[in-house]
Amino acid sequence: MKKHNFSAGPSILSDYAINNTIDAIRDFDGTGISLLSISHRSKEFQAVIDEAGALVKELLSVPEGYSVLWLGGGASMQFAMIPYNFMRSRAGYLDTGTWAHNAIKEARLFGQVDVLASSEAAGYTYYPQLGQDYTIPEGLDYMHITTNNTIYGTELRDDLDAPCPLIADMSSDIFTRYVDVARYDAIYAGAQKNLAPAGVTLVIVKDEALGRAERPIPTMLDYRTHVKKGSMFNTPPVLPIYTALQTLRYYKQIGGIKELMSRAALKSAKLYEAIDNSAMFEGTARETDRSLMNVTFVMAPPFKNLEKDFIDFCAGRGIVGIKGHRSVGGFRASLYNALPMESVDALVEAMSDFESTHR
Ligand SMILES: *Cc1c(COP(=O)(O)O)cnc(C)c1O
Repeated sequence: MKKHNFSAGPSILSDYAINNTIDAIRDFDGTGISLLSISHRSKEFQAVIDEAGALVKELLSVPEGYSVLWLGGGASMQFAMIPYNFMRSRAGYLDTGTWAHNAIKEARLFGQVDVLASSEAAGYTYYPQLGQDYTIPEGLDYMHITTNNTIYGTELRDDLDAPCPLIADMSSDIFTRYVDVARYDAIYAGAQKNLAPAGVTLVIVKDEALGRAERPIPTMLDYRTHVKKGSMFNTPPVLPIYTALQTLRYYKQIGGIKELMSRAALKSAKLYEAIDNSAMFEGTARETDRSLMNVTFVMAPPFKNLEKDFIDFCAGRGIVGIKGHRSVGGFRASLYNALPMESVDALVEAMSDFESTHR
């Protein structure tokens, strides 16, 4: 039986992307060679990486002067590469969750980090708001944000109006909304949430912002290496890039960002409504900051001891991946782009059935 897969990452991908990848593993685009064995220098793979980059630019309306890169090392590698390449002396960071926290730790190796706001004391249950919770000082080389906090289920869905360039970790909400890319020096996203299997990280970088930091940078960690060589300085992660291309084609076919945005809004609204209307379940994130991608919730205090039972109950209905991150507990339902509405319906029904049998 096919499962309803709510995993936070690696996570559900479209049948379109998976089936086309399977076909290419058998025979890559009629070459008679498996995708797993094809040279990254072949003209056929060059066409893949070229089209993938072009589709990223098209879907997100990336302006002239930006490069699309496909790199190894996960989003976590970007935590170091960003300050290595962009920090001259001082950068601002928002501390909005575990990933943001990790990014701050790396940035401190390279210069002064101003933590402009942190929601850590509140268990990262809200997203600090510009003007209300913090201001952005002059003189920052850049300001780093994590647009969606995968573990805590909070999200910033508008591009900030900042007096400096923005840099964003969009690992878990890229391709779910329009982005004004011109405000950013760099955007990065580990592929395993909305794009491809693990192993590649998408980076969109502003060419003219590179080279401002004066420190020597190891070749592989210098974005200029990868810009110059079109992500082919060394062997790129061929397989996940191929799957990413399929996902991007699928996104375009179904109507692009507009359609993805509307699906995300509908799916998350349905699940949050079920949580809010229930006496047994309750959301953990501040209502105005709730993520459309990762819905975090717990059982209300009188039912706390039933959390494990609910997970087993769901498993019996083919609903998997809803256990909260080990650092927070409770539940987390990830509603990435490939998750169909039927899966949300199945979860909502399971919540309601479970509640009526346990009250
Ligand atoms: C998953 C995730 C990461 C970590 O990605 P890796 O590819 O495992 O390094 C970083 N940031 C965010 C927002 C994430 O969701």
